[in-house]
Amino acid sequence: MRFAVTASVCLTPRRYLQNAMLLIEDGLIAAVAEQGTLEPPQNTRRIEFPGALLAPGYIDLHVHGGAGCDVMQAGAGALAGLEQHLARHGVTSYLPTLLTAPADEILAALDRLAAAVEQAETEPTAELRAQPIGLHLEGPFLSREQCGVHPVEHLQPVSLELFSRFWEAARGRIKIMTVAPELPGACELIAEATRRGICVSLGHSNADYAEARAGIAAGARHATHIFNAMRPLRHRDPGIAAAVINAPAVSAEIIADGIHIAPGMLELFLRAKGRESAVLVTDAMSAAGMADGHYRLGSIEVEVRGGACLSPEGKLAGSTLTLDQAVRNVMSYARWDLQDSVRLATDNPARVLAAATRLGTLAEGAPANIIVLSPSGEVLQTIVRGNVKT
Ligand SMILES: [Zn+2]
Repeated sequence: MRFAVTASVCLTPRRYLQNAMLLIEDGLIAAVAEQGTLEPPQNTRRIEFPGALLAPGYIDLHVHGGAGCDVMQAGAGALAGLEQHLARHGVTSYLPTLLTAPADEILAALDRLAAAVEQAETEPTAELRAQPIGLHLEGPFLSREQCGVHPVEHLQPVSLELFSRFWEAARGRIKIMTVAPELPGACELIAEATRRGICVSLGHSNADYAEARAGIAAGARHATHIFNAMRPLRHRDPGIAAAVINAPAVSAEIIADGIHIAPGMLELFLRAKGRESAVLVTDAMSAAGMADGHYRLGSIEVEVRGGACLSPEGKLAGSTLTLDQAVRNVMSYARWDLQDSVRLATDNPARVLAAATRLGTLAEGAPANIIVLSPSGEVLQTIVRGNVKT
């Protein structure tokens, strides 16, 4: 199928192109051009969005659930509702994210979710659904002091043997693994996971500055929801947060919902980490897109009040954030423009994945994952692998 999409502006997102036209063919972007410089073949259908902006589909690297679905419980078919919810909020690719649980439960969930990733690859659907493109394993090699709501009784000492079982259960589909670098043996694990092509992300960690630097030297190149479930940034004890910020090659996730991070801290982080390596994630759980009430995050009971997710002990247990809202929050809290804000949910997460599939960019040959935005960042339309609502 071939069609052309036109809009006032295209954010590639590194380039700002006025009077833009994208030519889509068989699920891929065939051309990106200014209107008038490209004549699409005769009878090409045109979809026009005057006054709107085109951007790459958002990529969320940290999703536990949404629309009532919890990824730890869900089989392949059960992810449809979550994936439709994500697409409504501009997300075209995401990593289902596993929580700490008994090893057998993690193994079963890895197997199930890897099957969902494989199915999305081999049997693409015509429905408007975000595509799971790999898995994020958050735990069980985390700090007891900074485990957040991860059940402390299921944390594990670092074990290369257990890691190998996870890897096999997931059939190599683990893209990100969150690890606390201060645990005995963590650097060896980081090196081994990196060797297998996993992006090791430092997080749920009480590491001091030197311990975090050792984790980075061993291969870690990302950080999980910076400042949350992390040794705090202090002037005589800079800790893991400063080690991550000071390492130019290390990217970092942030949950920009105004609940996990005060707006001023978000602004400070964005100044320090800049346009190249800050990554917006939601850490969303099953209540995202739903009303306040009682929900589950893995085995944890969560009460959602005013959009804040709280465990019975009153700890934050994921979020109800959507990624389009996170982009708009960056615009309002840090006064960034739409183009720069969009980069934090497209180009930057794509580079974390080092994706060979050219996600996060509008360029010739890239998958036609496209969102249509209003100037204030509202999602007007989502196109997933060339599928568009008509
Ligand atoms: Zn999480």
